[in-house]
Amino acid sequence: MKRALLLSDLHLAPERPRAAAAFHAFARGPARQAAAVYILGDLFDRWLGDDQLTDAFAAGVADSIRGITASGVPVHVAHGNRDFLLGERFLRATGARLLPEQIVVDLAGAPTLLSHGDELCTDDVDYQRFRARVRAPGAVRRLLALPYFVRRALGWYVRRRSRGANALKPEAIMDVNADAVAAAFRAHKVLRMIHGHTHRPARHAHTVDGRVCERIVLADWHDGGQYLEAGPDGIATREIVA
Ligand code: MN
Repeated sequence: MKRALLLSDLHLAPERPRAAAAFHAFARGPARQAAAVYILGDLFDRWLGDDQLTDAFAAGVADSIRGITASGVPVHVAHGNRDFLLGERFLRATGARLLPEQIVVDLAGAPTLLSHGDELCTDDVDYQRFRARVRAPGAVRRLLALPYFVRRALGWYVRRRSRGANALKPEAIMDVNADAVAAAFRAHKVLRMIHGHTHRPARHAHTVDGRVCERIVLADWHDGGQYLEAGPDGIATREIVA
């Protein structure tokens, strides 16, 4: 029985070669036996537009994903806050499909809500304001119209500013908001959700309108990686190192 594999927050970048090596090992190994692969955002630590595919590092990651799709396994990619500019060219190069911000998929015998998860962090008002501004279609178009070197400088500036701002924020602000989580369970009428973004891997139980719901948070990748395996016998955590 083939299983769906779910992962997020790999934050792949040339300066983190071990995470990249773990991803290439994942793509050559377990991903090829999967029913489907779901990458729930922040595959890349930064994505400045699909012209980044001219970088050897990015092209290598794209090739690895192409290897998975070419072996007949569907790969689904969601935008994270770091790589929301992943676009058509990337999808064509990899054969992957783009997921909407939130989607319900049948996993391990139950409809399961999948998302990156940053939309649930509503306590971080500054971040949500920034997100709404940069992710509006018009803003994305204007951003992508800038020369690559300008986007690279902008990306560096935004990351530096966000590091500074996040260091001053209380821990709780950068986690999901309980009301936003309850609202998502209600809106999609599901009892399980899986997301990433917060880098706080866990399995939480929530009671929403008297029903027990499960929220699984995916791990971020460091020297190795972690992914979920969802099959008829449930959901298990797996590790991969290069
Ligand atoms: Mn994120």
